[in-house]
Amino acid sequence: MQIPFLSFAGQHDPIREEVVAAMARVYDSHWYVLGEEVRRFEQDYAAFNQVGHCVGVANGLDALHLCLRALNVGPGDEVLVPSNTYIATWLAVSYVGATIVPVEPRIDTYNLDPDRLEEAITARTKAILPVHLYGQACQMDAIMQIAQRYNLCVVEDNAQAQGASCQGRLTGSFGQVNAVSFYPGKNLGALGDAGAVTTDDAFLAAQIRTLRNYGSQQKYRNEVVGYNSRLDELQAAILGVKLPYLNHWTQQRQQLAAWYTQHLTGIPEIVLPQTATACTHVYHVYVIRTRYRDELQQYLTQHGIGTLIHYPIPAHLQPAYKHLEFQAGQFPIAEELARTSVSLPLWPGLTLEQVVFVCACIRRFFAAAR
Ligand SMILES: *Cc1c(COP(=O)(O)O)cnc(C)c1O
Repeated sequence: MQIPFLSFAGQHDPIREEVVAAMARVYDSHWYVLGEEVRRFEQDYAAFNQVGHCVGVANGLDALHLCLRALNVGPGDEVLVPSNTYIATWLAVSYVGATIVPVEPRIDTYNLDPDRLEEAITARTKAILPVHLYGQACQMDAIMQIAQRYNLCVVEDNAQAQGASCQGRLTGSFGQVNAVSFYPGKNLGALGDAGAVTTDDAFLAAQIRTLRNYGSQQKYRNEVVGYNSRLDELQAAILGVKLPYLNHWTQQRQQLAAWYTQHLTGIPEIVLPQTATACTHVYHVYVIRTRYRDELQQYLTQHGIGTLIHYPIPAHLQPAYKHLEFQAGQFPIAEELARTSVSLPLWPGLTLEQVVFVCACIRRFFAAAR
């Protein structure tokens, strides 16, 4: 049995006709940038996310960057970011010239630790950038309380957690402005790059609309130094077809995760995903941890099972951030996660039989090693 880390077959094959029809509609409309498709998808996604406004942009990284620009975060400001996130979260802070202040996660949920967050706040702190990592909502109630107490902005990085919630409220609806990615592999993915900003604030939504389109509201009049970061009509049309299926795909992801947990329980060498009370997990990825990670990954590869590591090098040890002079050992939890994590195949369309096969393979690996 060959089990790829990711397959789009289960999502894309059944809706092929619908997606191709939407693509043809855009083709025939002769209107390809900022038109009716983007307007409609923005409305649909805002409704899905239970926010007042959604602004489509070119990708998730731009969404984060534009959020920080709209909030006037810049040089001299400190932004609290997780020490264990995808590099995009850090890059957005670098783009606006603000200071990255990494905060270690909880070792059980891998999400920002509200207790550590408070210790990292200084007079210069301007914003908190919580990342709903792997698809699990952060403890947003605690994070928002801290933000209010210290008068800080919150920008959620919701790239991995479309449809997750904390205390019944959806991720992407807590912060002043929030970023989401529709990279193909995300829970809701386009057929290319795409992203959006979600917010309840009409003023900030208008700022983002201006920034994404050359700093212009009125053609050939430029208010601010903006960007070209528009969601295109083709991707918006495709996303519009896929959005109504998202909850169904999320339920499949949660079922697959439950099966993994059921069939991997009781192996002493591995740590399974834990979800915080009042938070939900939409399993963008199913991450397990073990000291024998590299050997396990190699064994699974030999048996036809694809895995990935999210993420092998923590941001503070990336060559790109050498100039910040962080040291190895400075963020031990992020480093431990980078050393021990491995993500198992999980995608809508994966079957119970395949999950059982993966789990049996993992069990055999540890039994042989003992
Ligand atoms: C994917 C991702 C991004 C960036 O999204 P792109 O659309 O690839 O630019 C940002 N943050 C996190 C946590 C991500 O997983």
